[in-house]
Amino acid sequence: MKKRLLLDVDEVICFTGFLPLINEFMNTNYVIDDFKDYFIDEIAIPKDRFEEFNNFINKRNLYENAYVLPHAIETIKILNEVYDIYICSSCINPFDIKGSGKLFLNKYNFLLKNLPFIKPEKYIFTSVKNLFIADIQIDDRLSNLDGNIETKILFPSYHNKEITDNELKNKGIIRAGYDWKDGWREVGNILLNDLENSDKPKIYNYHK
Ligand SMILES: [Mg+2]
Repeated sequence: MKKRLLLDVDEVICFTGFLPLINEFMNTNYVIDDFKDYFIDEIAIPKDRFEEFNNFINKRNLYENAYVLPHAIETIKILNEVYDIYICSSCINPFDIKGSGKLFLNKYNFLLKNLPFIKPEKYIFTSVKNLFIADIQIDDRLSNLDGNIETKILFPSYHNKEITDNELKNKGIIRAGYDWKDGWREVGNILLNDLENSDKPKIYNYHK
């Protein structure tokens, strides 16, 4: 039986159009690595313009021009041959609960288009990720990696660079490097290089 893998979406498969929309709204030129905190709107948007900003982004599709992370699709496609992959992703914006329904639809359409080899029956849209029994979980937020999972992988991101190796070691979490640009190469090395030769997918071509 294939091992079960829970896979996050935002900041792992893609960056949504959120930051480009912040730049459009504020007339700024931020790049993602300018931020250290997860909720970049709390930093980039003045409090007195928050409501105006939420109204502005509610009219847009955050996944229309999402940026897919380097090597994400090709690596997930290879992993899908040897692992039983479930998408496990929150669709709630805690700063805009009423407007969050759109995120479910837009994320659903993004996944259908970009990961056609994963059946939509395997999409799990929830913030309560520790409910599930699985063998492997990949997520960029430490707070999501608190379930009973054998192999937990922290995907590198702008907001988790300062988490120490010691903290991860104590929590039994593997770090897929320190730079999101190389995250998928690292994940490939972690999850594919350790397989027995007979289990390796035929299109396997990862090298350390
Ligand atoms: Mg995420």
